[in-house]
Amino acid sequence: MKNMSPRKRNPVECLPLATGSQEKARGDDLASVYDRRLKTYDPAGDNVRKFLDLLAVRINRSLAVSLVACVHCGMCVDSCHYALTHPGDSTMTPVYKADQIRRIFKRRLDWTGRIVPWWVHAATPASDEDLNRLKNIVFGTCSACRRCTLNCPMGVDTASLVRFTRGLLTELGIVPEGVFNVSRDEWETGNQMAVTPLDYLGTLQWMRDDLRTDPKLSGLEIPVVRPDCDFMYTINPREIKFDPRSIAQAAKIFHLAGERWTLPSAGWDQTNFGMYSGDDRLGGYIARNLYEAAVRLRAGRIVISECGHGFRSTRWEGYTWAEYDQNIPSESVVRTLKRYLKEQRIRVDKSKNALPVTFHDSCNIARSGGMTEEPRWVLNEVCSNFQEMHPNRTENYCCTGGGGLLSMAEYRPLRLESAAVKARQLEATGAKLVCTMCHNCVDGLNDVVKHYKLDMKIVQVLELVENALVY
Ligand code: SF4
Ligand code: SF4
Repeated sequence: MKNMSPRKRNPVECLPLATGSQEKARGDDLASVYDRRLKTYDPAGDNVRKFLDLLAVRINRSLAVSLVACVHCGMCVDSCHYALTHPGDSTMTPVYKADQIRRIFKRRLDWTGRIVPWWVHAATPASDEDLNRLKNIVFGTCSACRRCTLNCPMGVDTASLVRFTRGLLTELGIVPEGVFNVSRDEWETGNQMAVTPLDYLGTLQWMRDDLRTDPKLSGLEIPVVRPDCDFMYTINPREIKFDPRSIAQAAKIFHLAGERWTLPSAGWDQTNFGMYSGDDRLGGYIARNLYEAAVRLRAGRIVISECGHGFRSTRWEGYTWAEYDQNIPSESVVRTLKRYLKEQRIRVDKSKNALPVTFHDSCNIARSGGMTEEPRWVLNEVCSNFQEMHPNRTENYCCTGGGGLLSMAEYRPLRLESAAVKARQLEATGAKLVCTMCHNCVDGLNDVVKHYKLDMKIVQVLELVENALVY
């Protein structure tokens, strides 16, 4: 394995926000400092003013609790793969990242920061440059994995603060180019990868025709807009654009299980970049498209293909963003697979998957969603040599590609440096296959395996179930 010792490099500079102590030293009237600064901000004042106004408007009770509850005990530090791989670099710690918005909140809205800013380290951004540094911190040094959140004794949700700050910057257009591009594509085409209707339908037809070459599957369909089905299947655009095998695997299993299912013609993207960019309006737009497609088709339930943030945004966050009633049940396809196996609707032979396989829990499914046992149950049914990685379940480390980081090329070197902890964890399992139930994690883990030259292949649950099928 490649040398994992972290290099002493930190592309993120400390956010040099002006503090109240400087004004106090000059004997300024602190009550007027903030107003005077706003009046003198030029030419960047417009963005700073908007940022502060948005902060005041969008802050809510749960975020405020996370902003005021931190006691700076440092217990979250060892939770974060960025901090673990950059020992001694305080800017990589969760508490530092959260403090950058905490300082602004205190200066703008909290009484302590208004009266004694130097004491609580309250500060306010003074220029576009400061906002740009803030962008690099919240987009570039956090994968929003929430591992620190679970390990904070005060319940501080650092990842939510990061997402909140991202949302403020997104509103101002101060975002990495990749975030801008993917958000635009999703607004314009209804899916993250700008897949056209022609590509979508053409790929489904291609997969269907390919499967039908097997005489035992000659009647197989990949139905689109079939009403009154047991479920509407929703997918990640990556499945159309880069890996349609997973659609074929699902279609084959559904066919053999005798399932009555359908895909929608629009609203099929269960991923949601609004979750990453912090843009609740984009989140609500994409989620609503999907929910309305299920209603139009009178689907009995929504089944979500293997995707971590798609699972989270479709199953619960999207309803809030879209202000939509949760009237159709939804589940991960892994739960659907478990039902088929339990009810013996499909038959498998686990000896077909004999290579040692381990399981990577996706942050949004395990840590944020609480779904940890179903994939293990399924893998133990279809694989003969399953091995846990440690730590696992809600304590697992991020694939390092979460939080939309795969779309932000400028932060890739830091991401791969921070992946050393993940590489060590993978290597210690001795497994040849790393299974995950998330397309995003597939790409993140593939980067880790490649960068650290590990002899492992990344697979998904559908792939292993399909490989074990007996029919
Ligand atoms: S976020 Fe929680 S664990 Fe981290 S320093 Fe603050 S109180 Fe301690
Ligand atoms: S959410 Fe994850 S990546 Fe972000 S600071 Fe916390 S532990 Fe680190």
